[in-house]
Amino acid sequence: PVRVRFAPSPTGPLHIGGVRTALFNYLFAKKHGGTFYLRVEDTDQTRFVPGAEAYIFEALEWLGIAPDETVGKNEKFGPYRQSERKELYKQYADQLVNSGWAYYAFDTAEALDAHRKQHEAEGKTFIYNWHNREKLDTSLVQSKEDVEKRIANGEHYVIRFKTPINETLEINDIIRGTVKFETNLLDDKVLFKSDGMPTYHLANIVDDHLMETSHVIRGEEWLPSLPLHFLLYKAFGWEAPEFAHLPLILKPIGNGKLSKRDGDKMGFPVFPLEWKTEEGTSMGYREQGYFPEAVVNFLALLGWNDGTDKELFSLDELVASFDLNRVNKSGAKFDPEKNKWFNHQYLIQKSDEELAVLFKVELDKKDISTPLDVTKIVGLVKERANFVTDLWDLADYFFVAPSSYDEKVTKKWNEETKETLAKVAEQLNAYADFTSQTIEDNLKEWMTANEIGMGKVMQPLRLSLVGELKGPHLFDIIEMLGKEETIKRIEKAIA
Ligand code: GLU
Repeated sequence: PVRVRFAPSPTGPLHIGGVRTALFNYLFAKKHGGTFYLRVEDTDQTRFVPGAEAYIFEALEWLGIAPDETVGKNEKFGPYRQSERKELYKQYADQLVNSGWAYYAFDTAEALDAHRKQHEAEGKTFIYNWHNREKLDTSLVQSKEDVEKRIANGEHYVIRFKTPINETLEINDIIRGTVKFETNLLDDKVLFKSDGMPTYHLANIVDDHLMETSHVIRGEEWLPSLPLHFLLYKAFGWEAPEFAHLPLILKPIGNGKLSKRDGDKMGFPVFPLEWKTEEGTSMGYREQGYFPEAVVNFLALLGWNDGTDKELFSLDELVASFDLNRVNKSGAKFDPEKNKWFNHQYLIQKSDEELAVLFKVELDKKDISTPLDVTKIVGLVKERANFVTDLWDLADYFFVAPSSYDEKVTKKWNEETKETLAKVAEQLNAYADFTSQTIEDNLKEWMTANEIGMGKVMQPLRLSLVGELKGPHLFDIIEMLGKEETIKRIEKAIA
């Protein structure tokens, strides 16, 4: 059965790239009727950030892609927090030591530094592997007693993986095909530390095995760890899961990985939710007014498409169409402008009633109460809105009469303009039927009969009602404002 996982380290707010990884795991699991679980990888206590774990759960919840199993939820293979599984890992490190796949290393930081410098001086990179180390330091050839004595003496130790030399590994990646690695270029990575904690590599493989992970779907930045992980499965004698490394998410302009700085510089969020620290606040998609469906939609298209031009996908549609074989190898450019377009698409899909409920929340925040039909107003302006908050900028004049008028226009006004407007007010006042089409017909008839040009009326009229030359069809505005308010505004404008 398909069992996939999202395994974040709670070292800060979840980057949008992490959310994409979670989403692809979610889609893959649901597509195959499998399970999506979340494991918290918090073994590196120096990088622990309070609040980060809760943030991750809240973000996935908001997006509608919460895991089936995790901390406090269907803990079938629990605990799901690695710090609570601490006792478990040592036996696996020991197992590898006993089978000759790992060894104790007692290097001091100074000694390692000296080796590194010496190599640099010779123009070489220092690769820490058993082969090299043996030549440098005979103390690596350890007897069990020797190791025990040194540990008892309180010497600082780590357990390292003993990478085989002179091997070419060919590993299959669902997205990339066969990927080759030369083992001679690999460091003997630390698996276990003397503080009693496993490193990411050991804990990750042990847990992926114990939690019966069928596929590892994660970001490209983990590709360099793949040979080690592959070898660890071999060393344990376990069947390895299948691997899929997702393409990088690239900055909108220039090359390289999308970073928080790109967002700060260009004014778009790189986090799903807002994140506050003493240093400041990082923007969140939720707080910027994005709909979770829109975020899910644009993230799904970062590196994946269904083979057609289709861009709008509900979560259910994504589940139905998702295919790991259609994920690209090459990086996916992040496009903040396009993301707004996605939000617009979801906004206009909502009914006017639904949007009115959301818009009323904004009106309440501004202490605006109105006798007007907010649902109708939303219907008049929503075509131009990307966000619910845009509705205010597009429709503010319905609720608050303009207090100033665009001077670029009013400076061209003369006595005749005011006289015409006064006559228009008089006309409007006489209309019994005050609906948009009738007002338009009547007023146009009157203009024709009196040989008054359209431009002489329409522009000044819009300005006196709106304050600027913006907004939907003028006669819709007039109907919405009603006779009394319309006339009041005209009189104010020409006063
Ligand atoms: N804890 C790793 C991370 O922070 C997990 C990587 C993996 O999926 O193997 O992304």
